[in-house]
Amino acid sequence: MPNYVYSFGGGKAAGNASQKNLLGGKGANLHEMTHIGLPVPPGFTITTEVCTYYYGKKHTYPPELMSQLKSAVKKIENLTGMKFGSAQNPLLVSVRSGARSSMPGMMDTILNLGLNDATVEGLIEQTGNPRFVYDSYRRFVQMYGDVVLGMKPESKDDSDPFEEIIIAKKKLRGVETDTELTADDLRELAGEFKDAIHSRTGKHFPQDPEAQLWGAISAVFGSWMNDRANVYRRLNGIPESWGTAVNVQAMVFGNMGVDSGTGVAFTRNPATGENAFYGEYLMNAQGEDVVAGTRTPLPMSAMEKDNPKMYAQLMRVRKILERHYKDMMDIEFTIQQGTLYMLQCRIGKRTGFAAIRIAVEMVNEKLITPADALMRIEPEQLNQLLRPIFNTEEKSAAISEGRLLATGLNAGPGAASGRVYFTAEDAFLAHTRGERVILARNETSPEDIKGMDAAEGIVTSRGGMTSHAALVARQMGKVCVAGCEALQIDNKKRVMHIAVPHDTETHYPHLAAHLETVSDGEAKRTFIRINEGGFISLDGSTGEVILGEVQTQPSEVLRVLIYKTLDAANSPVYKIYERLMKWADSTRTLGVRSNSDQPDQCRNAIAFGAEGIGLCRTEHMFFGGDRIDAVREMILAETTEGRRAALAKILPYQRNDFLEIFRVMNGKPCTMRTLDPPLHEFLPHTEKEINDLAKSLGISPETITRRMDDLREVNPMLGFRGCRLGLLYPEITEMQARAIFEAASAAKKEGIRVNPEIMIPLVGHVNELKSQTDVVRKMAETVAKETGMKVPYLTGTMIEIPRAALTADAIANVAQFFSFGTNDLTQTTYGLSRDDSNKFMPFYLEHDILPRDPFQAIDRDGVGRLMKIAVEDGRGVNPGLKLGICGEHGGEPTSVEFCHTLGLNYVSCSPFRIPIARLAAARAALAYPAKKSPRTRAAATKKKKAVRK
Ligand code: ADP
Ligand code: MG
Ligand code: MG
Repeated sequence: MPNYVYSFGGGKAAGNASQKNLLGGKGANLHEMTHIGLPVPPGFTITTEVCTYYYGKKHTYPPELMSQLKSAVKKIENLTGMKFGSAQNPLLVSVRSGARSSMPGMMDTILNLGLNDATVEGLIEQTGNPRFVYDSYRRFVQMYGDVVLGMKPESKDDSDPFEEIIIAKKKLRGVETDTELTADDLRELAGEFKDAIHSRTGKHFPQDPEAQLWGAISAVFGSWMNDRANVYRRLNGIPESWGTAVNVQAMVFGNMGVDSGTGVAFTRNPATGENAFYGEYLMNAQGEDVVAGTRTPLPMSAMEKDNPKMYAQLMRVRKILERHYKDMMDIEFTIQQGTLYMLQCRIGKRTGFAAIRIAVEMVNEKLITPADALMRIEPEQLNQLLRPIFNTEEKSAAISEGRLLATGLNAGPGAASGRVYFTAEDAFLAHTRGERVILARNETSPEDIKGMDAAEGIVTSRGGMTSHAALVARQMGKVCVAGCEALQIDNKKRVMHIAVPHDTETHYPHLAAHLETVSDGEAKRTFIRINEGGFISLDGSTGEVILGEVQTQPSEVLRVLIYKTLDAANSPVYKIYERLMKWADSTRTLGVRSNSDQPDQCRNAIAFGAEGIGLCRTEHMFFGGDRIDAVREMILAETTEGRRAALAKILPYQRNDFLEIFRVMNGKPCTMRTLDPPLHEFLPHTEKEINDLAKSLGISPETITRRMDDLREVNPMLGFRGCRLGLLYPEITEMQARAIFEAASAAKKEGIRVNPEIMIPLVGHVNELKSQTDVVRKMAETVAKETGMKVPYLTGTMIEIPRAALTADAIANVAQFFSFGTNDLTQTTYGLSRDDSNKFMPFYLEHDILPRDPFQAIDRDGVGRLMKIAVEDGRGVNPGLKLGICGEHGGEPTSVEFCHTLGLNYVSCSPFRIPIARLAAARAALAYPAKKSPRTRAAATKKKKAVRK
């Protein structure tokens, strides 16, 4: 006979934590907690299979369910010594929904089920506390009416019908709060609730506890298909077939007097990761009172002081849970007259910062292995160790001054402080005035891009982690708090309001200037008002929005690595970073290099752990000092001799730059790319600049504008650029190669090892590469003769044109290495320009036309397929071919993983993404351990055979 009901209680449980599919997340963990000896009120779980049956068989139940449920109720009765429906000694239960993962939209929990006009009397006799009993009764009628009998407000603007009755009662009695109502008042309320249910819905509140129970169970299964749950499932890709479980559990009461209470807690701090118990509780309260916000809960530290015995019980549970689950847990508990009961536990949600700290510290505590820790930390979370942070003291001072306005979603990590503006245009203008700007919108759209770009941080009142604001902010690397519903933003009136308690001014007199009281009929409501230009601060790592300015500073990790302030080297944060990176480096097989063009960038890259340069854009050196004049002279020259003369002026600059880079990199490989962008990018723009240039070159401004017209292109991205420049003007490549080789031999003379790799961009046909490689090789020989010194070097090419990937075998006969230029390869594969994609890409992403922005994460099916062809065909003819990637994808975790699976030698990315790439590479190595190549496998078997002999 199939078993549909799993009991737990008295130290025994039919299920366990691994059965989330069958018992739901909440149920599975209730069973598990019972197993490991934690105090869980007895109960049972009706499996998700019943939900499936219910929807498959026209809302009916399996015939076996009735008897199984009855015997499960009996078990609770035996364990508690109480009886369901008994007037003398009534057993009360809660009915709780529970899908595999917690799911908003599902039915709310019903507490105190089993109360009716008769059992109420029995309970009063038992407890001698009529107020408690009637309070429980009216709560039950209210919850039951609401979730089972459909007593919902008629529209969103309508007030809750039960609340109206309570308000009327309080008015009649002349009292302000619920706690001032007497037992009799509460008894009357229960009656009035029942009448209201009948007159509004035509249904009677059921007196029979068994009918109550079946009503509640059906309501849970019914809520699996309600609109909110359907929408949530669709957005999160949860299949309908999963179904929900139902948990029925003996009630324990946190509202039984001053030694009772209820609370929620995390076994460690979910914001900072600190190994300290963290939570909130309320004495003499039930169920959701803690999160409902009607009374202000107390921090755990208050319990440690006021109720050390209770606190000790919780600390014991905390330890057991962490030892058992080996993770930070989120718990719900109730204390009934001094005794602790556990009502829920699950793996706790946490900030990236906390994730890192918890994982590393759990390795130190021997709870998990370094590999576990690496797999638990999303590489992007490392950003939270690198982005600017608030000065900790200033931030906690701000919060204790009552300046925490609201908390939204932590959509873009980092700290930002500035003046708030409510339209993109205003933000942009303020930015051009030199202000630091925060953009506040209800939600953002593509028209807001300019303002978002001008802002230090963005806050929205609507939208989730994948809203336009959140997506674009992360892409731009901006601080972002999304979906902060407490902010009432009026973009037209350029103002925002946040509702605060009436007594705010008494507690925080210095906020007086910000407070505004509005009469709304009889009620008065108090707000904090923030006008355009007022200061606010955003913590994008925690989602906090703070009134006023809070100083920001570089993170501890940056202070050590980049600013070399040694005081931070002993900070816990830096130590955690160091350990984690050590584990990552000893795990990964993929190399990590940096895209850096200048010596100080190279220094940063090494500080972040770069093992070489994957891309040095030599033209970036053209802009420094007055060398741009020589560059412009070269571009404007109309003869080869003229160009050579100008190039001769550039040579010493380039040589010096390269020499300095070789010194910094000290033997690490350096990929130097020859000139790539179209020439017009280097020419002056304003009339004044043109006139100045004309004067210094001794030619007429007209000559310059004529030459500029010559160079103008319809589509420069696909125009006269890359190796095409070096082919038509080989003297440019010659000069760059000379600079590299002269610098290399100079460095070698100083005793520095050098390892240059010269890379030809935008190759589409092998002949392009052949011709440019010849130029480079000839120059190597020339310089070797001149200096009497040979330097080792490689020549290779970027793969950034589909044709290059498709003819990789031919190209690999000439190239010693390939580096995938995935920015251009994505542009040319998709036939779209990245700089123009901002116009429609956010729309594409919001509407799921593309799953991800292909400029962020490698498009494996298209661009990735070309890469795979190039890798296989390239290595096919040239097994020693060195393979890397130098597009910005090299620092994006899913792309790094893809590069690992392709068998590339290294990834290269901007210096600040290097730690992310290192961690991503380690995770890829753990997820995809290197397959033994046929050769090593053959060797291994030979060895084994030899041993056997
Ligand atoms: P949610 O999934 O919304 O957290 P729960 O089923 O966890 O809903 O119920 C919410 C709260 O109701 C619990 O945290 C607990 O405080 C209270 N509760 C649920 N069942 C019981 C019970 N048997 N005894 C006492 N309180 C309960
Ligand atoms: Mg809960
Ligand atoms: Mg390119």
